[in-house]
Amino acid sequence: MPRRARTECKAATCSNAGTIECAGCEGAVPVAKYCSDACRTSDWPSHKKYCGKKAYTLDIRIVGSKKPVIKRIVDVPSWYTFEELHYVIQYAFSWENCHLHSFVFYRPRPRCRRIPAGKEIIRFLPHGKREDPWSDPDTTILKEEVATLADVYGEAGKYHSEVESRDTILPLIYLYDFGENWEHLVTFKGEKVATADRPIFSKVTGYPPPEDAGGYDWDSADDDEGDIFAKGRDPDEINPEVMNDEKRWEKRYKACSRMRL
Ligand SMILES: [Zn+2]
Ligand SMILES: [Zn+2]
Repeated sequence: MPRRARTECKAATCSNAGTIECAGCEGAVPVAKYCSDACRTSDWPSHKKYCGKKAYTLDIRIVGSKKPVIKRIVDVPSWYTFEELHYVIQYAFSWENCHLHSFVFYRPRPRCRRIPAGKEIIRFLPHGKREDPWSDPDTTILKEEVATLADVYGEAGKYHSEVESRDTILPLIYLYDFGENWEHLVTFKGEKVATADRPIFSKVTGYPPPEDAGGYDWDSADDDEGDIFAKGRDPDEINPEVMNDEKRWEKRYKACSRMRL
């Protein structure tokens, strides 16, 4: 599908110029525009899913990766649950959701550079999993399918005070595959007005490791190695415009939600 001009009416079946800005999502870039009230009304069932709501910009990178850092900058709907953030990360790094995962916010120890290291603050239980009897009694345990990003990142969120530390937000680690231990560092970068009810990627670098690659030791890698997982890969995997396609995302979302581990 050709990319729509920013001034085109947002209604799905209309190609007129969009001249009326949606008042509900003021400040969104791009803001939804319509050619007529009729088009605004017809688009509302889909537009209302995100109109006036917030998205959080997250920097998600594979810990240790370099030359290039395997990284995605993505706006994620604030109303997404952490289970849905799990889907976003699976999608972002072409993972196939065939291994266990976990999310943990932690408070880094002073002067400790290894990631993650420090005290567990919030741990999320994957959908349908019971609490680990050995977990630290001081750690807050939340259900991944219940807790939303706004509960944690939103200033009025129920758990916001737990992750706020000297005007910054504590790091979140997403661990995927408990055998190969791919650690993804999730850093909060800010909030904005949502422009979609799905993740929107603005920057993508580095091909992700293939599933069951066996891990990778970047520290002892040859400096001239380059993008080590690039060989034989589909450029669409790291093309933000392709990744932002609504149908592509919906297909992956459905596949992910069907195969809970
Ligand atoms: Zn709107
Ligand atoms: Zn129109």
